[in-house]
Amino acid sequence: MPVKVPVSRGSLTWLQIQVQEYGGGLKLVLSQDITERERADTMRRDFVANVSHEIRTPLTVLNGFIETLGSLPLTEVERKRVIALMAQQADRMQSLVADLLTLAQIEGSPRPASDRWIKASALMQRIESDARGLSRERHPITVFLDPSDQAVEVSGIESEWLSAMGNLVSNAVRYTPAGQPIEVRWQTLADGTGEFSVRDHGAGIDAEHIPRLTERFYRVDGSRSRDTGGTGLGLSIVKHVVQRHGGELKITSEKGKGSVFTLQIPAVRVRKA
Ligand code: ADP
Repeated sequence: MPVKVPVSRGSLTWLQIQVQEYGGGLKLVLSQDITERERADTMRRDFVANVSHEIRTPLTVLNGFIETLGSLPLTEVERKRVIALMAQQADRMQSLVADLLTLAQIEGSPRPASDRWIKASALMQRIESDARGLSRERHPITVFLDPSDQAVEVSGIESEWLSAMGNLVSNAVRYTPAGQPIEVRWQTLADGTGEFSVRDHGAGIDAEHIPRLTERFYRVDGSRSRDTGGTGLGLSIVKHVVQRHGGELKITSEKGKGSVFTLQIPAVRVRKA
């Protein structure tokens, strides 16, 4: 029977130790570092627990409303209100399922090809109209693409880039009070790296939270996230997408002042058509 032993060496390491008869009265001791496997198992368990929790909460609320509708005589106004609240919970579950499917699809598909080119200007246009649609004129939004970058193209999977960029813009809108500006910008650096950034002047984030923001279901303010239709999966999708394309997500933020989220796209995936 193998035994699992925790060994402390800075961060926790797990060893699996197994003793086997070796013949001639000898014994063989096998030890294996199973830290990674343990970590993956824990992550999988946490993920399932989180998903179940995220689905159960709106389901419980929905069930409550169904019971109310079925058992209480409601006025037309009350009935409409209950139905609107039910729709809100159903939307929440729908967004969660959509984000889960996006994650699963990204994880299950091969590394994005580098010979499919998408116009940066087209991406920016789509993102701008998404941002304006989400903000509904509550925020002054500026989108900046230098005229010299009009012909820039990015390689990879268009739907993934749109999803990553769209998530950043959606967060900026959701975490910025009305009236505060949001800036979306494309820049091609001197070394050819592409940078897509979204700057907001919203709530900002304490430094201690920043390293954890891209964890699945990690939220700084759970109720604000949920009230604005957040799933807690947005930034993990963004990080995944950009890493698959060989790039990086950079976050700088100051509590109370606002944040800048930047997708750094490696020069090999950026060209001037
Ligand atoms: P959510 O769906 O909760 O927004 P995300 O993965 O997109 O999930 O973001 C994780 C958390 O990071 C959010 O819950 C929020 O606390 C914080 N966050 C993300 N973007 C911003 C932003 N632009 N300003 C302030 N906080 C942000």
